[in-house]
Amino acid sequence: MRYDYDVIIVGGGPAGTTCALYAARYDLNILLVDKKTFPRDKICGDAISGKSLVYLRELGLLPRLERAPQIRVDSVIFSAPNGTQIRVPFTPPNTNRKSYGYVCRREVFDHILFQAAKEKVETREGFAVDDLLVENGRVYGIAGVDARGQRQQFTAKVVVGADGYSSIVRRKLGLYEIDSRHWVIATRAYYRGVKNLTDAIEIHFVKDILPGYFWIFPLDNGLANVGLGMLHSKLKKRKINLRKAHIAATESPYFRERFQDAELIGDIHGWNLPMGSKRRTVHGDGFILLGDAAGLVDPFSGEGISNAMSSGKIAAGVLAEVCRGEEFSAARLQTYADRLWAELGPELKTSYRLQLVGRFQPLLNLVVDRAAAYQEVRDWISAMMAGVASRDELTSIRTYFRLLFQPG
Ligand SMILES: Cc1cc2nc3c(=O)[nH]c(=O)nc-3n(C[C@H](O)[C@H](O)[C@H](O)COP(=O)(O)OP(=O)(O)OC[C@H]3O[C@@H](n4cnc5c(N)ncnc54)[C@H](O)[C@@H]3O)c2cc1C
Repeated sequence: MRYDYDVIIVGGGPAGTTCALYAARYDLNILLVDKKTFPRDKICGDAISGKSLVYLRELGLLPRLERAPQIRVDSVIFSAPNGTQIRVPFTPPNTNRKSYGYVCRREVFDHILFQAAKEKVETREGFAVDDLLVENGRVYGIAGVDARGQRQQFTAKVVVGADGYSSIVRRKLGLYEIDSRHWVIATRAYYRGVKNLTDAIEIHFVKDILPGYFWIFPLDNGLANVGLGMLHSKLKKRKINLRKAHIAATESPYFRERFQDAELIGDIHGWNLPMGSKRRTVHGDGFILLGDAAGLVDPFSGEGISNAMSSGKIAAGVLAEVCRGEEFSAARLQTYADRLWAELGPELKTSYRLQLVGRFQPLLNLVVDRAAAYQEVRDWISAMMAGVASRDELTSIRTYFRLLFQPG
């Protein structure tokens, strides 16, 4: 069979564009489509972690991000349910290597990635995929409506679903399911004029929304990205209206003063995060899934951009190998799943255990209280965030005994 392309990537977010950019290095014939036209908004906290910066650096895109409107952040402020607050630098102690991240509106960040991809591969914006071409159970192309309203279809050796939480690729394959225990819903709103913003992202563990959190992330131009996320299963059980909880958080005694003169820009939006606390099917005959379409969001931090980019890079390597041959079966594409879980599996497992621990207020209070009192506990958290110390320690009961009996 002759194909229009080696690879068709559905979705031009961080997963799809990263996959396109790495795959282009292998000289593959690629089509990248997105139903939106860039720049476009994506509901997100806009926090770009150090792990994402590794890929941006490799792709030569860090200078573009540095030139764009963003805020460079060097630390995180945590507050415990009891109100104790600590600030922990991203750079661990005893190192010359500075660790940092950025907060950059996705309208800006994704535009940088999409424009870079556009320089390397064929792209179609405003192309909404609504069907897959399937023969004998194998996917071999996409169908949809282009920006002029014309129906079109294209064939490829492998179709990559990088089309986010409500992935049409996942749906059309009958793989879409909603599991309340592994699904977070979060709000996001932009404000101007929130007081006392610093070069730190802020994560506040508020009693009523555990194991979720309320965040305030500083942005360019006096803006802040503010939101609140919570597990759907808890939301349902406690009958919480997330929009009301968001407003209540900004009006609570703890934050009231800071939001007093702040202006809400636009509306409070809500969207979904498929947590990687559950392993979902990520490949099959003629297709693979990346990023949110594969359900790879970190179950503790809610960070999804870096894992989306990881999956894109891993996929590119596998596609380069597979597209040289004539077989595009699930068995052949199993390499993608193997490499993906080998790289992300252990981290996702630890994060899930941390999420379970984070449900217990006394433990959160204990860690933050001790960190407020002891520099060495703050250094240890820094080292864990930088990946220098193992985060597994936070899931061990011995750690909490040690903290409990730390001399006062
Ligand atoms: C409220 C909220 C806050 C978050 N905060 C953070 C954070 O601060 N940091 C972080 O790292 N992560 C955060 N995340 C998670 C992060 O947003 C996602 O994990 C990340 O965007 C996943 O990237 P992706 O490329 O897989 O999917 P997406 O970014 O969702 O991109 C999917 C693309 O596919 C396109 N598409 C969809 N359907 C079709 C179709 N039928 N045809 C063609 N194209 C289609 C869409 O237009 C979109 O461009 C947050 C998520 C939410 C909801």
